[in-house]
Amino acid sequence: MKINDNYKNLETSYLFSTVKRKVKEFCDKNPDKKVIRLGIGDVTRPLCKSVIAAMHNAVDEMGTYKGFHGYGPEQGYDFLKEKIQSYYLKNNVKLELNEIFISDGAKSDVGNILDLFSIENKVLIPDPVYPAYVDTNIMNGRKITYIKADKENDFLPIPNDSYKADIAYICSPNNPTGAVYTKEQLKIWVDWALKNNAIIIYDAAYECFIERDSELPKSIFEIEGAKKCALEICSLSKMAGFTGTRCGYTVVPNDLNFDDMNLNKMWLRRQTTKFNGVAYIIQRGAEAVFSEEGQKEIRENINYYKNNARIMAQTLTKHNIYFTGGVNSPYIWLKCPNNMGSWEFFDYLLNEIGIVGTPGAGFGKFGEGYLRLTAFGTYEDTKEAMERLDKLLS
Ligand code: PLP
Repeated sequence: MKINDNYKNLETSYLFSTVKRKVKEFCDKNPDKKVIRLGIGDVTRPLCKSVIAAMHNAVDEMGTYKGFHGYGPEQGYDFLKEKIQSYYLKNNVKLELNEIFISDGAKSDVGNILDLFSIENKVLIPDPVYPAYVDTNIMNGRKITYIKADKENDFLPIPNDSYKADIAYICSPNNPTGAVYTKEQLKIWVDWALKNNAIIIYDAAYECFIERDSELPKSIFEIEGAKKCALEICSLSKMAGFTGTRCGYTVVPNDLNFDDMNLNKMWLRRQTTKFNGVAYIIQRGAEAVFSEEGQKEIRENINYYKNNARIMAQTLTKHNIYFTGGVNSPYIWLKCPNNMGSWEFFDYLLNEIGIVGTPGAGFGKFGEGYLRLTAFGTYEDTKEAMERLDKLLS
């Protein structure tokens, strides 16, 4: 028996374990000091009322002969797919129902989608970015090149003709930088992919944080030509607090054809073979997210987090600290002052004022010198943290 020795090429993820250890050491030494965690990527506000009511109903249904649901369609129930179809239509994106696949979250699909591609494909990944893109490809043994996101390109790298790859990742709004591509910038990506016969894996997990009346694209399918070269992965985790409940969706257009194969048909085959669908109760809860009342309720939570982001942005602006994000994103990506390294600034914030961020170096080598703060805490904590930071920097 030979193991998949690509696993040997994975770097041990020290990021969150090291953060945890350092915070514990600080708390042990300073039991009276309140630590404020602005490093968390998980949401903190509870599920909204409409979702809870819908899930309660579904539980009751499951206890009856008439309402019991066993195996459902692997690709999700139509009642939920129809809601997602209407949600996209608000941005003038027309999807066929069979192009929408309900999943148990974006992370699973980020990994699973790679079943469709040869290990010989070359992959292009922005740096810094959500680490799962890199690790899932390393597990498969694919060759990765990185496209640098930095201050010069506003953390929105654009490929030119010198970039040759078969699979490219885009995360917009970006985790960790909070940067969001414009339609014009995405059009360059789409044209590049079409020219190079490449596919774009577009992660829209934070699209709901884009201001609803802004011109910024919430889906790559707002861009002409994208249905021939992109698929889109999305999640209800940050949109509606489903991090523990688990529900997301992936859009695989019918027009995605490579090597005489249709990717939509391949994904359907993959899902019906390896996946048995998301629980009926969860899909009913997800359906409620897209109801009029549900949208109102989740918007309240999103706006709550966005207000936290605004408070953080104000403090950083006051002290002339460079940052991206914070407007159309729950993340603030800031340049560590006085040229401190990511971990150095992390230690400084923790030891001086008891604030925990996430060192940018944990998201790729070009993240060094930056720190990520998240808006997923409480208003009170965020305000107190910024008062402490204001004092420290004054
Ligand atoms: N994609 C990005 C960019 C993320 O930041 C996250 C979670 O933090 C995910 C995907 C995973 O989402 P899910 O909870 O749906 O698996």
